[in-house]
Amino acid sequence: MKLVVRVKLLPTPVQAAALEATLHACNQAATWAAGVAFEENARRPLELRKHTYVEIRFRWGLGAQAAQHAIKKTCDAYTTLKANLRAGRYGRPGTRRHTRASGKPVVFRPDAAQPYDDRMLSWQHQARTISIWTTAGRLKNVAFTGQAEHLEVLAAHRKGESDLVCQGGKWFLIATCEIAEATPNTHPAGFLGVDLGVVNITATSDGVRHAGRGINRMRENDRKLRSKLQKKNTKSARRRAKKYAGKEARRARDVNHKISKRIVAEAERTGRGIALEQLTGIRERARLRKPQRTTLHSWPFAQLGSFIAYKAKKAGVPVVYVDPAYTSQECSKCHHTERGNRPCQAVFSCRVCGFVDHADHNASHNIAHRGWYVWVCGAQSTAPELNLIA
Ligand SMILES: [Zn+2]
Repeated sequence: MKLVVRVKLLPTPVQAAALEATLHACNQAATWAAGVAFEENARRPLELRKHTYVEIRFRWGLGAQAAQHAIKKTCDAYTTLKANLRAGRYGRPGTRRHTRASGKPVVFRPDAAQPYDDRMLSWQHQARTISIWTTAGRLKNVAFTGQAEHLEVLAAHRKGESDLVCQGGKWFLIATCEIAEATPNTHPAGFLGVDLGVVNITATSDGVRHAGRGINRMRENDRKLRSKLQKKNTKSARRRAKKYAGKEARRARDVNHKISKRIVAEAERTGRGIALEQLTGIRERARLRKPQRTTLHSWPFAQLGSFIAYKAKKAGVPVVYVDPAYTSQECSKCHHTERGNRPCQAVFSCRVCGFVDHADHNASHNIAHRGWYVWVCGAQSTAPELNLIA
C-alpha cells in the first residue's frame, strides 16, 4: 500500500532562495504550458511535449527531468479538471461556474507543488540531508527533519516521486512510501465496534473510551481563544488565529494517530475486524445544543476513520462500515429501540429488559453487531458459485 510521509526542510536562507526561484520557475513554465495545451488542444504528455519541451527548458532554465514533470503536471491538472467537470462538481454545462472552469486554461499558483523523481532528488537518511536539483544548480546538504517514526518509514520504504511544496513560508517534501501489507485476516473472530461521539471521541465495544475530558477541555479552550481573536479582527489577531488553527489541527492529528493505533492493535491482537460508522451525515445527525455542536464540528472524524482504515489495512485487519442510525437508542441486549432508552447523554437504560450501560459503550456494541452482519452478508455475496450449484 502507498503512504505519504511529510518531512520539513531546514534550508539556509541561500538554499531557501534557490528553492523558491525553482518552484516559481516550474509553476510559471507549467502555467505557460497549460495555455499552450488549451490553445492547441494538446492535453496528452507526448503531444504537449512536442509543443513546449524546448521552450520550457531554455526560457525557464528547467532541466530535462523538471521540464518533463512540468508537462506531466499540466496534463494531470487537465485530467483532474475533466473528471471534476464530468462528475458535476462545477454544475451543469452552460452554467456560469461550469463555463468559467472549462473555458480558460489552468493556472498554477507560484508555490504549487512540484514533483521530483530520483534523478532530481536524493536522500541521505543517516545525515538527514537531501541533495536537490534547482534552477541554480544542485543544492547539497539541505537538512530535513520529521517525526522519528515517519523518518524510519521513509528510510525503509521510500519509493518513487516526492513533491516539493512551500506552505506558509516553510518548505516540505511529501514523499511516497510503498509499504508491504500483512495477509488479510479472512476469518475474523468477531468485530470491535467503534462509536464516534462528542463526549468521548471514540468508545469501543471492549469498554475502552479514548480521549474524554482532558481533550474536550483543550478543544473548548482553543475554541474560545479562536472566537476571541476572530472578534478582535486585527492583523496580528488574524495571524495568531491562523497559528492556533494550525496548532489545533496538528494536535488533533496526533490524537487521531494515537487512538487509531490503539484500536487497530487491539483488533489485531484479538483476531477481530473493526466496525466503523459510515461517516456521511454525522453532522446532520447530531442534534445538540449550540456549544456542543461546535465541538463536534471541529473534530476531524473523517481523518480518524481514514487513519484506522490504513493502519488496519497495513495490519491485515478487516474493516466494515455500518449504518449508524439509532445505534444510540437501540438496546444491545434485546434490540428494543426507543428514544426513551436514553434518559441522558451518558446513560443507556432499556425500557423493556432493564439493561443499563454507559451510552457510548452500548452504542459501540450495536455497531459491533451490525459489523458482523455486514461481514457475513458480504462474504455470502462474494460466493455465488455455491448458489448456482444448488
Ligand atoms: Zn433491552
